Amino acid sequence: MDFTYPETAEAIRAEIRAWLDVNLPEGWQGTGRLDTDELAAFNQDWRRKLYEGGWLGLEWPAEYGGRGLGEIEAIVVYEELARAGVPAGGPNDAFSIGMLGNTLLKLGTEEQKRHFIPRILSGEDVWCQGYSEPDAGSDLAGVKTRAVLDGDEWIINGQKIWTSAGHLANWIFVVARTDPDSPKHKGITFILCPMDQPGVEVRPIEMISGESEFNEVFFTDARAPRDHIIGTVNDGWRVSMALLGFERGKDAATASIGFRNELDRLFAYARELGCADDPEIRDRLVRAHEKVEIMRFMGYSALTRFARGQDPGPDAAITKVWWSDYHRDVTELAMDIMGIAGLVSEGRKPSSAFRSDDFNAPNSTASWQTVFLNARAGTIYAGTNQIQRNIIGEMMLGLPKEPAGAR
Ligand SMILES: Cc1cc2nc3c(=O)[nH]c(=O)nc-3n(C[C@H](O)[C@H](O)[C@H](O)COP(=O)(O)OP(=O)(O)OC[C@H]3O[C@@H](n4cnc5c(N)ncnc54)[C@H](O)[C@@H]3O)c2cc1C
Repeated sequence: MDFTYPETAEAIRAEIRAWLDVNLPEGWQGTGRLDTDELAAFNQDWRRKLYEGGWLGLEWPAEYGGRGLGEIEAIVVYEELARAGVPAGGPNDAFSIGMLGNTLLKLGTEEQKRHFIPRILSGEDVWCQGYSEPDAGSDLAGVKTRAVLDGDEWIINGQKIWTSAGHLANWIFVVARTDPDSPKHKGITFILCPMDQPGVEVRPIEMISGESEFNEVFFTDARAPRDHIIGTVNDGWRVSMALLGFERGKDAATASIGFRNELDRLFAYARELGCADDPEIRDRLVRAHEKVEIMRFMGYSALTRFARGQDPGPDAAITKVWWSDYHRDVTELAMDIMGIAGLVSEGRKPSSAFRSDDFNAPNSTASWQTVFLNARAGTIYAGTNQIQRNIIGEMMLGLPKEPAGAR
């Protein structure tokens, strides 16, 4: 493991720090210091500033509007944004930039890149992920949503579920069955479908916390242009797997920053509530501290692989299991620290159901109770932890493959 950053990375660190100094409000301490309405307005404006400053699509070639940075330089920018307590993009950019944009650059046609990439960066096209269905989650190849060619258009019928931020999107990438007679991995096509049409209906799902950040999406004779597919017809499995490779990619290098900020708040809360000296609480706090430190070192290890030009590969599965198990446990600890008071929700709620509360959010029962309720989902989305453990067992430890009957 090498802890030194290349000079080019330190140069970009200085550049982004200077930019943040100019562009963040005076006395800025992180998104958690804004109330959630103010934060929604701030985030919208912040995304525009990132775009105008050229801080989106960091690794993308300049010819498509990206900044053309190397992997390490880009990670340094993500580190600095995370430390400043600001998002690295808008609420849908994990899908728009992180997943679809990267997949288009890898597998899209030249015409698709020239059309979609600038629109993704500007925020004109906002994407969501249409993979999961009521009967197809871990077993994604079981999708039943059908797409049939009608002249120059695909006609799509079926249902997607758990579509995060689908209510904020105007485009959805759909994994659809186009040849029901082929073996299930072979008859799938990856379709780019506009959502602003009568055939696409988005219905919010209420989460356990009472918020609605994901949705069901129904397709009833929805239409997408014939050439709006990535890869070829019935070749969508390969494309959908390539996209998942981007889903957990760089995150490992910076994940610990938000969790460290959150854990420091929990230390302060335990002191404030007078239970920091309780031996059991103390023991669990120390374990949480160790886990975040290990997460930080796992980040350095990921960074070193990027510096050597290697992909995270199956290692990403370890990071995913690590942070999501940790977060489920530490939020249970927070509930124990709050005791019976934690049953009442008072104070500022987190702005998002994903990961930790906003950077430097004030401690409150509403903050920790909501994060506790949402943390369990971290062990499910982006591939369940059971599936990640299968990957670790089979691809890293060389254990025998799971028997087909057990799936
Ligand atoms: C907060 C949240 C946001 C999400 N956002 C999106 C989104 O934007 N777009 C999208 O398409 N999907 C999204 N999902 C869906 C998510 O990808 C699926 O929930 C996940 O892949 C699991 O699928 P499933 O829910 O159908 O469970 P299933 O696949 O039915 O699994 C049920 C249980 O069985 C276990 N299991 C299944 N197969 C195996 C196996 N082979 N070995 C061992 N155990 C197994 C699973 O681990 C799980 O515990 C989201 C989910 C959540 C919770």
